Amino acid sequence: MEKGRKMGRRFEGKVAIITASTQGIGFSIAQRLGLEGASLVISSRRQRNVDEAVKKLKAQGIEVLGLVCHVSNAQQRKDLIEQTVQKYGKIDVVVSNAAANPSVDAILDTQESTLDKLWEINVKTSILLLQDVSRHLTKGSSIVFISSIGAYQPPPAMAMYGVTKTALLGLTKALATEMAPHTRVNCVAPGTVPTHFASFITDNDTIRNSIIEKTPLKRLGTPEDMAAATVFLASDEASYITGETIVVAGGMTSRL
Ligand code: NAP
Repeated sequence: MEKGRKMGRRFEGKVAIITASTQGIGFSIAQRLGLEGASLVISSRRQRNVDEAVKKLKAQGIEVLGLVCHVSNAQQRKDLIEQTVQKYGKIDVVVSNAAANPSVDAILDTQESTLDKLWEINVKTSILLLQDVSRHLTKGSSIVFISSIGAYQPPPAMAMYGVTKTALLGLTKALATEMAPHTRVNCVAPGTVPTHFASFITDNDTIRNSIIEKTPLKRLGTPEDMAAATVFLASDEASYITGETIVVAGGMTSRL
């Protein structure tokens, strides 16, 4: 967050779970929710990353609980929810942010085990998490999925990953209906953001420059850009919005 920039306190008294939130976009979303007053539960696969992220957030005066949770691990997902409820008593916001992109193969060359992993991490575990979370969600609660601009036109080198992100657009629509009127369900589709996840693209000068060239706003996205949209959708300012996806991609138009 820019130093000196004024920020609201839209999440005072709210409790937010953000998966895969110890770095990159997930961390930025957590930070923004925390700076706006939310009590946070952050998590990822590695204890060291969790500890570091908790330290950074606490140094900013943010109330945060950090847990190890590999989204594929059923017990860790249950612990995440139980410990959230034990410590904070309720859940107002869930941001489902974890994803894997284990292959650059064409879809017809992708091994079954890789197809399973993509479906499991990028789609199925989001559903399983919400199945367990739903009974703790407050009235007026909000879910945000993190999809991708690649959901609209899956790029050849990440085609199956893109297809799992397309599934999240459908999941957003379906769950928005299923969970209304108690809970809103929305989605953010980021363009390219130079995080660890995207480093295989953004560390390559030629590819990075060609993406910037094709982007009307002539830059890559930042985790803060993604956090701003996510936090808006999670907030009461979006209280009449459900089932929608906001593309945050500098004007990139490769959409269905
Ligand atoms: P990132 O900077 O690499 O951060 C990934 C985070 O997820 C880390 O905190 C990592 O910590 C955690 N993580 C990874 N696998 C996990 C798992 N199985 N269970 C729990 N935590 C896990 O990635 P990012 O770029 O912010 O990506 C976040 C989301 O944005 C993803 O859904 C991605 O598809 C989407 N997205 C990114 C871009 C982009 O250009 N960066 C574009 C479109 C969409 P540990 O290593 O400790 O687990």
